[in-house]
Amino acid sequence: METHIEKPDINKKDESFRDRISTVDEKGKRKWMYPKYQSGKFHTYRQIFGYTLLLILFITPFIKYDGEPLFLLDVVHRKFIIFGTVFYPQDFFYFGLLMITFVIFIALFTVVLGRLFCGWACPQTIFMELIYRKIEYLIEGDWKERMALDKQKMNFTKFWKKTLKHILFYAVAFVISNLFLSYLIGIDALKKIATDPLSEHIAGFTTLLAFSLAFYGVFAFLREQVCTNICPYGRMQGVLLGKDTLVIAYDYVRGEPRAKFKKNEDRKAAGKGDCINCHQCVNVCPTGIDIRNGTQLECINCALCIDACNYMMESVGLPKGLIRYATEYQIKENKPFKLTARAKGYIVVLIILLGIMGLLLMKRSPVDGTILRSYGFLTETTKDGKIKNLYTYKLLNKSNHPQKVSIEMIEPNDAKIELIGHLPVIEKEGYIEGSFFVVMDKSLTKGMKTPIEIGVFDENHKLIKKYKTNFLTF
Ligand code: SF4
Ligand code: SF4
Repeated sequence: METHIEKPDINKKDESFRDRISTVDEKGKRKWMYPKYQSGKFHTYRQIFGYTLLLILFITPFIKYDGEPLFLLDVVHRKFIIFGTVFYPQDFFYFGLLMITFVIFIALFTVVLGRLFCGWACPQTIFMELIYRKIEYLIEGDWKERMALDKQKMNFTKFWKKTLKHILFYAVAFVISNLFLSYLIGIDALKKIATDPLSEHIAGFTTLLAFSLAFYGVFAFLREQVCTNICPYGRMQGVLLGKDTLVIAYDYVRGEPRAKFKKNEDRKAAGKGDCINCHQCVNVCPTGIDIRNGTQLECINCALCIDACNYMMESVGLPKGLIRYATEYQIKENKPFKLTARAKGYIVVLIILLGIMGLLLMKRSPVDGTILRSYGFLTETTKDGKIKNLYTYKLLNKSNHPQKVSIEMIEPNDAKIELIGHLPVIEKEGYIEGSFFVVMDKSLTKGMKTPIEIGVFDENHKLIKKYKTNFLTF
C-alpha cells in the first residue's frame, strides 16, 4: 500500500491498513461497504458536475456532424469518429499519437491534481455514487438500516426491498449498456436493434444483454473493487503522486493528537489536536479507508470525508478544513501549492504533442491510398518514340462527402497520364482502384530510373495527396 502523506505521529496503534486493502478482512474475505450518506458543499458540487457529465454523455450519441455521429468507436468495422472526423486503420498513426497525448495528459493531471478524475469525472464513480448509491439509499435507507437489513433473515420487507433494488439496478444497467453500445455502433444502428424484429439482430441483442449483465454485476456487486483492485489508473497512483500533488489530505499537524470532544474544553491547553476522533470521515468513505492514515491507493477523491469532517468541525465550533484538498508540503511545511519540475516537463511535452497533433490533423488528406508502379510490366515504347510505364492506384475517401478526384502529373510536368477506363466518383467512405499509364518523352528521363511525382486533385483542382514513385526506362 502506497502512502505519500507522511504517517502522522499519532497515538493510535492500529497499523492494519498497511497489511491489506480496506475492503478485505484479516481472513482475506471481502468486507461489504456500507458508506453513510453525507451531504455538504463538495457533495453538491460533485452532483452538479456529475449529472451535467451524464447529460452530455446521453446527448452526445444523438448529435450528428456532417451526417456522422460526433463520436463513434466502431471496433468491428474499424471506423472511429472523434469530433466528427472519421479515422480509419490507415490513420492508426494519428490514433497512436492521440493515445500517447492522452496518456501524457493523464500523467500530468495526476502528478498535479492527484486522483481528481476518479472522484469527479470517472463514469464508474458517477454511475455508482450518483445513481446506484442513491437508489440504495432510497430503498434500503442509510448505512445502519442497510446493515441491519442485510443481517436480517429473509422476510417480506427484505424480500421486496432487495427485489425492487435489483430490478432498478438491472434497468439502469440496461440503459447504460444501450448508451455504451450507441458509442460503439452508432445511435441509428442501435435504434434498428430496438425497432426491427428480434430475429434480424440476434447478435446485437445478445451483445446488449451481455453488456447489461456486465454493468449490473459491476454496480450491484463489484462496486468499489473496480477502483481498488481492477482499474489500472488506480494502480498508477503510487508512481505518480508526490509530496507536491494536490490530494485529499488530513491535516495531521493540526489534528493530532486526536481526542474525544469535551464541551467547553480548551483543546490546545489540554494538549489535544482538533480531530475529535468521531470516525465520521471513515463512516462516509465508499472504499472504507481512514484518511487519517495518509493517502492510500483506495482513495478515489470523492471528497465525502471533507464534507463529513467539516460538518463535525462546525458542530463543535472548530475551524473547517481539517480534511481538505492539500499537498503534503502544504500540511507539513505550510508551503504554497506550486508546479514541480516534473509537472512542468510534462506540460512542455504535452504542448509539443498537441501542436504536432493539430498540425497533422490540419494537413490530413480526405483521400488516402496508394499509387504504385505495376510490377511485372516493365516499359513500352509508343510509335512516336515516347516511353510508357503502368501504375495502379487504390484510393479511399475518408471524408463525409463523395469525392470527385483527378490524377495528374506534378513532376515532370510535361509527362502525361493516360487512364485505363475512367476515374469514378469515390463515394463517402468508399474505395476505388484501377490503373493508368505515365507517358514520357525520353528527354525528360534521368537514366534508367526517374523519380516522378503524381498528384490526386479534388474537383476544385486543389492538391489533396501527393505520391512519389519511379519511372523506368529499359
Ligand atoms: S478517503 Fe475521503 S476522498 Fe478518499 S475515498 Fe474515502 S471519503 Fe472519498
Ligand atoms: S471526521 Fe474529522 S474530526 Fe472526525 S475523526 Fe475524521 S478527521 Fe477526525
